[in-house]
Amino acid sequence: MFGRAPKKSDNTKYYEVLGVPKSASQDELKKAYRKAAIKNHPDKGGDPEKFKELAQAYEVLSDPEKREVYDEYGEDALKEGMGGGGGPGHNPFDIFESFFGGGGFGGGGSSRGRKKQGEDVVQTLKVSMEDVYNGTIKKLSLTRNILCAKCKGKGSKSGNSGKCYGCQGSGMRVTTRQIGPGMIQQMQHVCPECRGSGEVINDKDRCAQCKGSKVTQEKRVLTVDVEKGMQHGQKIVLEGQADEAPDTITGNIVFVLQLKEHPKFKRKFDDLYVEHTLTLSEALCGFQFALTHLDGRQLLIKSNPGEVIKPDSYKAVNDEGMPQYQRPFIKGRLFIHFNVEFPDSGFLSPEKCKSLETVLPVKPTKHSSDIDMEDCEETTMHDVNMEEELRRKEHQRKQEAYDEDDEDEAGGMPRVACNQQ
Ligand SMILES: [Zn+2]
Ligand SMILES: [Zn+2]
Repeated sequence: MFGRAPKKSDNTKYYEVLGVPKSASQDELKKAYRKAAIKNHPDKGGDPEKFKELAQAYEVLSDPEKREVYDEYGEDALKEGMGGGGGPGHNPFDIFESFFGGGGFGGGGSSRGRKKQGEDVVQTLKVSMEDVYNGTIKKLSLTRNILCAKCKGKGSKSGNSGKCYGCQGSGMRVTTRQIGPGMIQQMQHVCPECRGSGEVINDKDRCAQCKGSKVTQEKRVLTVDVEKGMQHGQKIVLEGQADEAPDTITGNIVFVLQLKEHPKFKRKFDDLYVEHTLTLSEALCGFQFALTHLDGRQLLIKSNPGEVIKPDSYKAVNDEGMPQYQRPFIKGRLFIHFNVEFPDSGFLSPEKCKSLETVLPVKPTKHSSDIDMEDCEETTMHDVNMEEELRRKEHQRKQEAYDEDDEDEAGGMPRVACNQQ
């Protein structure tokens, strides 16, 4: 069942369709197809069946390898070998287009164009807290590729970007190889003539502006609308602003917002946070201060009469947080985190202490007249650096663990025994 006897099928039909002898050169084939295809184009009232036949015939005979297979084994061999994909039966309009350089006539040509999706350009855009509080417009200069204006992206002066004959404009080439009688293997590879672009432009016909590359560089200024309340990581998409390329749907430029740290304000969603340090007397007796907001307004922040602010406590001001994205009239809250700075030791003389004691509240349980101080042991407190203490503890713990490992390595021999030797 390996292979089968070569079948002598019809191998003259394609020549007859084009009206050329079997010995016809590539040039003669081309001329014959051109004449017949124009005459029979359906857009000009020609017979669609005939047009299709012409395309099929030309497609096969214009490819030296396919022609060879056809001459030897006929149409059926091509059908089998090509697995239906690359063989006769292509869209006849594509073949017509590839011959006439994409333009065609009577319309119809461009509507069938298969455009690739261009890539998006993703960039980070740094914004300040002020930017997202107030909203702003950022101007960024950018250089990008655009289709050459002189040749309209054709790459040639004539505008006829001739499609590569070697690959029919696909950029890929299918070669067939006979691996047995009547058995054809097909292989696909990048077309060597056009290096995969699917096109060839005559040296003399190259566009002077873009040198045939079809694109030129354009420098321009982009305006990016940073709206109030936008979040860190939010994307601003400028549709169709990325590099242009022939037969490509231009991709987008995507800006990803990166919110810079602010020296004073922190943000959590729609809320803002500020730190404020009070002196002990401010914390006890009241305070007021001016806070410059992100839009330059001065807010007066003040305590209520009789209010005591404890260390590490928070207060909130409504509607002075971040504006909400797309609802900027709704704002979050402004939280103020209070620290209280205590005076240093020794600042109170014994006399001042006495007078202070008379005004500060005294916890009755601590006033321990019922405990006899005489029975207690004396102690002394000294200053410690807690961080330093913890670091030393950690070091000590590691050292002990290491020593234990050491003992294990010594075969579990008790240390005392070693000392005795
Ligand atoms: Zn090619
Ligand atoms: Zn150009």
